[in-house]
Amino acid sequence: MGKITGFKEFDRKTEAYRSVELRIKDYGEIFTGTHDVAHLQDQGARCMDCGVPFCQSSNGCPVDNLIPEWNDLVYHDKWQEALTRLHKTNNFPEFTGRVCPAPCEGSCVLGLNNPAVTIKNIEQAIVDRGFDENWIQPHKVLYRTGKKVAVVGSGPAGLATAEELNKLGHSVSVFERADRIGGLLMYGIPNMKLGKEVVDRRVNLLKTSGIEFITNVNVGKDISTEQLQKDFDALVFTTGATQARDLPVDNRDADGVHLAMEYLTKNTQSLLNTGHADDSELSAKDKDVIVIGGGDTGTDCIGTAVRQGAKSIVNFELMGKPPEDRAESNPWPLWPLIYRVDYGHAEATEVFGADPRQYHLMTKSFVKDESGKVVGLNTVNVDFKEGQLIEIDGSEKIWNTQLVLLSMGFIAPEHYLSDDANIDLDKRGNYQANYGEYATSQTGIFTAGDCRRGQSLVVWAINEGRGVASKVDEYLA
Ligand SMILES: Cc1cc2nc3c(=O)[nH]c(=O)nc-3n(C[C@H](O)[C@H](O)[C@H](O)COP(=O)(O)OP(=O)(O)OC[C@H]3O[C@@H](n4cnc5c(N)ncnc54)[C@H](O)[C@@H]3O)c2cc1C
Ligand code: SF4
Repeated sequence: MGKITGFKEFDRKTEAYRSVELRIKDYGEIFTGTHDVAHLQDQGARCMDCGVPFCQSSNGCPVDNLIPEWNDLVYHDKWQEALTRLHKTNNFPEFTGRVCPAPCEGSCVLGLNNPAVTIKNIEQAIVDRGFDENWIQPHKVLYRTGKKVAVVGSGPAGLATAEELNKLGHSVSVFERADRIGGLLMYGIPNMKLGKEVVDRRVNLLKTSGIEFITNVNVGKDISTEQLQKDFDALVFTTGATQARDLPVDNRDADGVHLAMEYLTKNTQSLLNTGHADDSELSAKDKDVIVIGGGDTGTDCIGTAVRQGAKSIVNFELMGKPPEDRAESNPWPLWPLIYRVDYGHAEATEVFGADPRQYHLMTKSFVKDESGKVVGLNTVNVDFKEGQLIEIDGSEKIWNTQLVLLSMGFIAPEHYLSDDANIDLDKRGNYQANYGEYATSQTGIFTAGDCRRGQSLVVWAINEGRGVASKVDEYLA
């Protein structure tokens, strides 16, 4: 423990983002790009080095990051040792340090009666320093087993799987149907939350360490599972939960109603390809935008629409506004289900003068004009009584809009690959495989990440990628 009285001396203070005024003018990261070492040492000093560190236990960090150890090392100005400890459990701390919702902080023991340690900030600062100082180098593989593994899907689960198997000496090829590597790290989470140069930097390290990446190949369509089974000793499916939940109400086919992922992907693709010179994005410029559904995806739609110059933005939530503090039914060390203001909410608030979120709203239908363009939508207020959704009489409302973004979560993976590979699905439509085992119903085919567990988090994808790699290694022995 760095400083015995640290948690009494220092208040929690997170690193500030760039000001809203500046950051909404570009797609650069919301982070300032610099870390104040003295500030981070004070924050690291707040860690109590608890006998049972809940932050790194099952309710806390899903990759079991050795949090108290690196907090202490940061306090003692031993950044390179802190980086070594961080990489022991987390392949990609530069991703989680930027985008993780930080369940670790929700279960930090200090959080029982004080604000939690700023774990996520410290994680990001350690790995950013590691890159700045050139401490992070490609892994040198000294021995090859002669075994070949194909990983299908290049999101965080696929990348973690590939890195771990490569370190063990297996030859790994990653197949990706998109034109760029990274899964939702590339096309999903927007640049302002995770710069694409940060993703490419890590992918380049993996390439240099011997992993092969093959883009624009859709497995199950462009190449069959059977062919991959002939060419490789094992397959790992990490294809994500890409089937989005839709809203099948009247006039859903109106022009201007889009799935959030279509909107976010087109914006990032156009930005990366031509800096938006090709005008191929779906633009919110001068439009009244309605985002249906919250979560990270909803926030990212809001942040993107703000940058595109939307005229107004409203975000519908079916549920009520969460409480400011934990409810009794949601005690420490569980993830706190509380009201949060994410970057996109803060930006919309500053630009339009009010938080964009509207609660207890259900969309009944869209309205389109004679040319088929969306011009509005009809809602009703709803409540929940004994688990039942009740529509409130007389609360119907018509909203003007020219762009609607559907951000209501993801159901399961698409099923053409599972059909092609003839693997079983679970009740929710995910690829069937037990957590910790990762074996599908077909020998030699494994699966991990969102396509197995359902829509989740980057840190869980890394956890599963590490886990499946160890099971594949056992299988290949
Ligand atoms: C908009 C958005 C914002 C998010 N923000 C956050 C956040 O802030 N923090 C957080 O922790 N999580 C966030 N998430 C969730 C997180 O991104 C996912 O949980 C995580 O990326 C899942 O990783 P994965 O590797 O399992 O799948 P994915 O990242 O979905 O990657 C799957 C890859 O497989 C490819 N693929 C699919 N089928 C095939 C095939 N047949 N052949 C070849 N390739 C194929 C896909 O093209 C894709 O690239 C967000 C999700 C979205 C949609
Ligand atoms: S990966 Fe997420 S949960 Fe784990 S230490 Fe980092 S911010 Fe916390």
